[in-house]
Amino acid sequence: MAQDYDAIIIGGGHNGLTCGAYLAKAGLSTLVLERRPMVGGAAVSEEVFKGFTFSVFSYVMSLLHPKVIEELELARYGLKVLPATDLYCPLRDDDYILYSDDVARTQAQFARFSRQDAEAYPAFLAYLQESAAILRKLQLETPPDPSRRDWKSFKDLALLLWRYREHAGELYRVIDLFTQSADVFLSRWFRNDTIKAVLAYYASIGSFTGPKSPGSAYVILHHLIGEHEGAGGWGFVRGGMGAISDALATSGQSHGLKIKTNAEIDKVLVDDDRVLGVVTKSGDEYRAKVVASNASAKVLFLDLIDPSDLPAVFLDEIKQFRTYSTAFKINVAAKRPPQYKGFDAEKCGFEVPSYVHMAPDIDYLERAYDDAKHGWYSYRPFITAVVPTTVDNSIAPEGKHVVNLFGGHAPYNLRNGSWQQQRGDFVRNVMNTIHEFAPGFADDVIDMQVLLPPDIEEILNIPHGHIFHGELSPDQLFFMRPVPRFADYRTPIKGLYQCGASCHPGGGVSGLPGHNAAREILKDVGTKKKRGA
Ligand SMILES: Cc1cc2nc3c(=O)[nH]c(=O)nc-3n(C[C@H](O)[C@H](O)[C@H](O)COP(=O)(O)OP(=O)(O)OC[C@H]3O[C@@H](n4cnc5c(N)ncnc54)[C@H](O)[C@@H]3O)c2cc1C
Repeated sequence: MAQDYDAIIIGGGHNGLTCGAYLAKAGLSTLVLERRPMVGGAAVSEEVFKGFTFSVFSYVMSLLHPKVIEELELARYGLKVLPATDLYCPLRDDDYILYSDDVARTQAQFARFSRQDAEAYPAFLAYLQESAAILRKLQLETPPDPSRRDWKSFKDLALLLWRYREHAGELYRVIDLFTQSADVFLSRWFRNDTIKAVLAYYASIGSFTGPKSPGSAYVILHHLIGEHEGAGGWGFVRGGMGAISDALATSGQSHGLKIKTNAEIDKVLVDDDRVLGVVTKSGDEYRAKVVASNASAKVLFLDLIDPSDLPAVFLDEIKQFRTYSTAFKINVAAKRPPQYKGFDAEKCGFEVPSYVHMAPDIDYLERAYDDAKHGWYSYRPFITAVVPTTVDNSIAPEGKHVVNLFGGHAPYNLRNGSWQQQRGDFVRNVMNTIHEFAPGFADDVIDMQVLLPPDIEEILNIPHGHIFHGELSPDQLFFMRPVPRFADYRTPIKGLYQCGASCHPGGGVSGLPGHNAAREILKDVGTKKKRGA
């Protein structure tokens, strides 16, 4: 027999939990159904090897929005953010460069490579911060639909433009960021390739682009708009990223949110153009007037809904949503963190670099992309190496370490090859790259879990394993995400919403798609309190 709720959420990723928590807080009886044995999606902590707990997918926090943290009282429910060290970028010749929120310290680092670039840094930072301030505001907006001709859409658009009227003069900036490559954008301020690589690195994270690809400038900003303390606003979460999801779940449960794991949705039930509920793979049926999907847009519309219930043009647009991924993650249980050749604890001011980017110059990043562009993994990948055990003793046996390796490029498909054959060579390649900067790391490895795009796809049910559910390119942002006309979290089916990273403002552990979707749902259905329940 079907069970009735006011709202059902498909998927208990951190955005599904955020959406669910807001709906429950507003008085709606809400059920989250998650296919995995645990909630969190890409924000989970799991004991992968005995005694070693990993942030299996996402590994550093920055983007989680302060509004979500405060309104859902996440600190009260266990969220504790720990600072990372300055970003440490090892270079060839045993040198390094540090990057941090401390402007004078970063300038001093840049000055070692170019005095002129060091002097230009405050102007660059001011530009970045002003642009970030606008984007931070925009992240909380529901994208209007400029193509609709009805009065409401016109009013929403006009109100948005009015709210941003003092930023009208900065429109050109947005165009620059959306159209320029990271390299062209950074070259306005910086000449030195090493300095440019420190910043351009952010444009490569999770994207199938190189720093010379048009539009890549925006991705730098997407990664640097976090407001927490640390290198570029990034920090660790005590207990791993799963602690964010656990805090969201507990917060929601304190308002009556129900969560069911091992419950994979097989089908969304639709009658005419209205949602009725969902059916799980094991045949359980749940009915609700509101169903919000945290699953990727492609999973929702291509796998869970009968195509005859959706307009053909819309389905075609969803199929075009670009999800191709080249990002990999390797979780290493280690005896020691990587020992970087040129590292000098006294000069750096910390004992162990906990947050490292390996990509010594801008051409290195571009070459890594060139390999992937032609269908192969990077001969020299760019690698982020993050060691949370430097500040968190709860996730590994005493004296041992958790090392998260994240990078690119490892294309989902290999041209004239298969991952089955190439997995070993790829890992050797990654280790050889690390050895250029930190020799002997392989000898300190106790065990490792290798996650390539097909693995991420299988575990999380994200098409191509795309870490943001879909590319963060200008054609897939704001009122184009995931597709034009349906960027306001609503869908062609009444009562069916989207609340995950496929929607504005996109991927990252921000909670914002979930927050914004809940706001739109509550606008449509009202709260229980308002309805006098
Ligand atoms: C390897 C990797 C590294 C990353 N690193 C970082 C980082 O360091 N910092 C950062 O901020 N971001 C990072 N990201 C990006 C970030 O983690 C994601 O963009 C974000 O977590 C997406 O959250 P979500 O809730 O929208 O979706 P997801 O986390 O994908 O959750 C969707 C949930 O829906 C469930 N689901 C799917 N289909 C069904 C179904 N049919 N029935 C029921 N449930 C279903 C899935 O199992 C999953 O739990 C990383 C991502 C990956 C993969």
